[in-house]
Amino acid sequence: MQIEALNDWIETYKKPLVISGPCSVENEKQIRESVSPLVGKVDIIRGGIWKPRTRPGSFEGVGEKGLQWIKSLKEEVPFKFATEVATPEHIALALKYEVDMLWIGARTTVNPFNVSELASALEGVDIPVFVKNPIHPELSLWKGALERFSKAGITKLGAIHRGFHTYEKKKYRNAPFWQIPMELKSEFPTLPLICDPSHIGGTREAIEPLAQRALDLDYDGVMIEAHCDPSTALSDAQQQVSTSSLLEIISRLNPRDASFTEKTYLDQLEIIREQIDQADRELLEAIAVRMNLVEKIGEFKKENNVAIFQISRWKEIFKSRPNWGKQLNLDDEFIVDLLRLLHQQSVKKQTEVFNMIEEEQNHPND
Ligand code: PEP
Ligand code: MN
Repeated sequence: MQIEALNDWIETYKKPLVISGPCSVENEKQIRESVSPLVGKVDIIRGGIWKPRTRPGSFEGVGEKGLQWIKSLKEEVPFKFATEVATPEHIALALKYEVDMLWIGARTTVNPFNVSELASALEGVDIPVFVKNPIHPELSLWKGALERFSKAGITKLGAIHRGFHTYEKKKYRNAPFWQIPMELKSEFPTLPLICDPSHIGGTREAIEPLAQRALDLDYDGVMIEAHCDPSTALSDAQQQVSTSSLLEIISRLNPRDASFTEKTYLDQLEIIREQIDQADRELLEAIAVRMNLVEKIGEFKKENNVAIFQISRWKEIFKSRPNWGKQLNLDDEFIVDLLRLLHQQSVKKQTEVFNMIEEEQNHPND
């Protein structure tokens, strides 16, 4: 379905939209000291009131009293406030205390029952709702949640990319898999897309490069966790930046133009794109050469009654290629992912060869 969301509401903000504030609202002093330096410097202040924790026993948020603190702070210094809601009761309380924007957390987006309940609770309410990507890399659940809010009449919709959990630990706390939000964007081009580099990166150092990467990909904004004293934070302490670092980071971020208009730029872009087309053709030809060799080795193994999968060779490939890649300035994680894909296809091809020869033996005259 088409999402009835237009980005005109987000266009009232200067791009990039900056949402920042602590992971959690912890106490009155912490929230005052975290919010005050950011008022007027960021567009929306964030703060978790109810914290969805993976394991029990950690800080689960302060609940309703946090909303009271925010409301009275807003009376002193006006600002817009956003928080995560996961139940219809959270929504009722957020509306009661005039929260300005809501977001749906990654652990909620995965559950269509939960999302439907929240969408019903928001029917007829004119509030911006951001939907974080589901915990695991599944675009359809993300789209499904957005569609449910759209069907409930929410037009000020947006998506937040916070990365995806993978069982294997990689460079970041949550793998970005940039192609997933890009696919979402290509399907819903008017839907505002925000990057949450704090939950992708998991460390303070990772935030700025990730945020810039998102702007390079034409995201509409960023959501970054900032705390008055990050080392004492009750949740996500390693990834929160101090409010002063936050201000430095956003001053250094460099928003890009969405497209080229000037002819000279367009000509140069065209030249580089032609070179990329050529490089892709050569890449595909190289893969075809590799697949022909794979077919040959499949026939050889079959004739000599040798198993397709040879552990020592597999190990050797995964050891040498990332090193070769490094010499060419290629990221070794990327090379490993690429090799896995090639290896999977190679096993598939050799299995076909094995079956084909068997069939020929069974039906020699076919
Ligand atoms: C958060 O924003 O603090 C949070 C819990 O995020 P997520 O749903 O992305 O884990
Ligand atoms: Mn957090």
